[in-house]
Amino acid sequence: MKMPSTGKSWEDVREILIERGLGDAKWRDGKTAVYVFNAGPEVAEVQHHAYSLYMSENGLGPIAFPSLAQMEREVIEMALSILHGPEGATGAMTSGGTDSITMAIKTARDYARATKSLSGTANIVLPQSAHPAFDKAAHLMDIEVRRIALKEDGSYEADPAAMGDACDTQTIMMVGSAPNFPHGVIDPIEDLGEVAASKDVWLHTDACVGGYFAPFARMNGVSVPPFDFEVTAVHSISADLHKYGYAAKGASTVLFRSEELYRHMPFNMREWSGAPMLTPTLAGTRPGGAISAAWAVMNVLGVEGYREKQGLVCTARERAEAGIKALGFEVLGNPVLGLIAFRHPGHDNFAIYSEMYRKGWFTSITTQPPSLHLMLSPKHAEVIDDYIADLGECAEIVAAGEQGAKVEARYS
Ligand SMILES: *Cc1c(COP(=O)(O)O)cnc(C)c1O
Repeated sequence: MKMPSTGKSWEDVREILIERGLGDAKWRDGKTAVYVFNAGPEVAEVQHHAYSLYMSENGLGPIAFPSLAQMEREVIEMALSILHGPEGATGAMTSGGTDSITMAIKTARDYARATKSLSGTANIVLPQSAHPAFDKAAHLMDIEVRRIALKEDGSYEADPAAMGDACDTQTIMMVGSAPNFPHGVIDPIEDLGEVAASKDVWLHTDACVGGYFAPFARMNGVSVPPFDFEVTAVHSISADLHKYGYAAKGASTVLFRSEELYRHMPFNMREWSGAPMLTPTLAGTRPGGAISAAWAVMNVLGVEGYREKQGLVCTARERAEAGIKALGFEVLGNPVLGLIAFRHPGHDNFAIYSEMYRKGWFTSITTQPPSLHLMLSPKHAEVIDDYIADLGECAEIVAAGEQGAKVEARYS
């Protein structure tokens, strides 16, 4: 496509935009359980209007836009208030989980450089289930990644002892997830904390997908193990607002136990031709809308609103779990939030996934072991029974195909 020499009317362009989306995943119907968090039309309205109000403002300029600086500060305070932030804890908003994780690693590295004698290549120690954002950030910063196998007890949890054994004098960070993405399982952060403390290593909790979920699930009576600053060894936390915080996309938080740790994050550049530039995170320009939308959704929902939404998600997951098991599938580990992975022990799980896709369900997969994967939203409470019914049909289709293939093999 070349840039048009004369422009079209907005009405025409708008039509094209809407038409282009017709082939996309049907997330508004609840048939998508990855990428999108559907908390209903009221929350979508708030995102939309709050984003528009600060769409042109720039978080790069806190003096020009004290409104955004105040909103960001309050978002961080609200985050710390639900994640056991101790006195003096602080943080910043970023563009997403990858940004938060990158900045946490950068901060841990610079902290280690300032407080320890690092020689040669630094390393980070992760469970096999940790998000690829750690590898991307490590690649950018020439840091070695040590991915350690999960426990072999079927829990799909990080193995603290094995991770401790992988640490050495060059280790700048150990990681646990709350929960991990592939299995939706919360790592034993307290045990990781003991190991990290004994090795004097920075512990990061990746609560990108659970940070704005787990505290409310716990208030609703779900048994959630300690994972946040309540665990004293946890130095930093990543928690995404644009996931279960139900904010507009482009919003996450990276949080630190103290100002002393945080201090190693901002980048302060004075030696160039322009004005001195101090940036707390990876971004230069920071979209004001992402900040205002997150702030607005948090204030519209409040603790009560989040409890209600996350209650719906947990209900959907429980119903999914019961239906899945009744069909002969097994659930991996013990997921207690909104993510769940499951597999059929007798059939080709990716073939079942393909059949579900053909029926219009767009979800993710887990590869270790081959499984189907759901990341549920409040909307799914309305459609989970349809999903289970389709899953039953798809499993039968695949089973019949496998039976046919066996018969064919016997007679050919
Ligand atoms: C989503 C996710 C990330 C990365 O977040 P993005 O916003 O996609 O960059 C990191 N860790 C976990 C556990 C996640 O679920």
